[in-house]
Amino acid sequence: MLNKSFKLLIGLLIVFSFSSLLAADLTKEQINQVLQEAYTKYKGDVGGKNADYIKALDIVDPDIFGITMVDKNGNVYEIGNTKQLVSIQSISKVFTAALVMSEKGSKFVQEKIGVNATGAAFNSIIAIEQHGGSASNPFVNAGAIQSTSWVSAKDSQERWRKISANMSAYAGRNLKLNKDVYDSEVNDNKRNQAISKLLDAYGRMGSDPLEATTVYTKQCSMNVSSHDLAVMASTIANHGVNPVTKSRVIAAKYTPKIMAIMATAGLYDNAGDWLYDTGAPAKSGVGGGIIAIVPGEFGIAVVSPPLDTYGNSVRAQLAIKYIINKLHLNPYAQ
Ligand code: GLN
Repeated sequence: MLNKSFKLLIGLLIVFSFSSLLAADLTKEQINQVLQEAYTKYKGDVGGKNADYIKALDIVDPDIFGITMVDKNGNVYEIGNTKQLVSIQSISKVFTAALVMSEKGSKFVQEKIGVNATGAAFNSIIAIEQHGGSASNPFVNAGAIQSTSWVSAKDSQERWRKISANMSAYAGRNLKLNKDVYDSEVNDNKRNQAISKLLDAYGRMGSDPLEATTVYTKQCSMNVSSHDLAVMASTIANHGVNPVTKSRVIAAKYTPKIMAIMATAGLYDNAGDWLYDTGAPAKSGVGGGIIAIVPGEFGIAVVSPPLDTYGNSVRAQLAIKYIINKLHLNPYAQ
């Protein structure tokens, strides 16, 4: 009898000490301490360069550096310029693909857009040709313009209203358009227009290709901060319920699918290296933001405009890698 309870006690102790290593058991002090370390370590890093193929992005302050983490209970941890707004750019692709998934199902996204890596740059045209007229996934420009076109809407206005309301629900506040970025990009998006026409020729678009490209450009021009992005990421981490507003934004059955595409293609042709280093599904944007997800636990976001040659923020990658490894948050290590 005594022997039995002794074994039970040992068992409980083992379970308890193991679970104390898990993310949920981190203290607020530990998290804040590691954010502070990441901020101090990388604040002076001068690697990378602002995107300049969109003129309005070239003039954004390269020193902006904000780090935010939101846990599954809606607690916020942050440091730096966390309220500073930048355009969301490609991170918007995650939320519009999620909207299409909600409306049309995960099979539709897999079959009509694809969920495989391209191994090519985010704006590649040759990748479409090499893959038989397919975008391959919703996180390269081709697949993202396709997602925008597949949002059910009677016209362009309704498509935009739905896409912006959807992103706002993930952020838990009404996101606003960055008019300067939109004006500069909408006159400069010839390559995306060409991509949309090519996809249309392959029968892959759900609406007029140029109309979809304009709405896509607008969704990329939404203003967000690292704070907003972390709330958005934490909604995916938290099985589709925004942990701050407590509203359900997407069915729980879709969040693993979204994270799978983020793991495969979130950092484009550098996604493999990223996953190898962090294990975390993530998505970058040329505005300088990156979101990363610790499933069931945290959304992490960093904003810092200078990018590497893949179009991924240099400081954001460094900071998120540091945080994930220092706090033992790599999902494959749990
Ligand atoms: N709006 C940008 C484009 O279409 C988004 C690219 C990105 O963030 N990778 O080129």
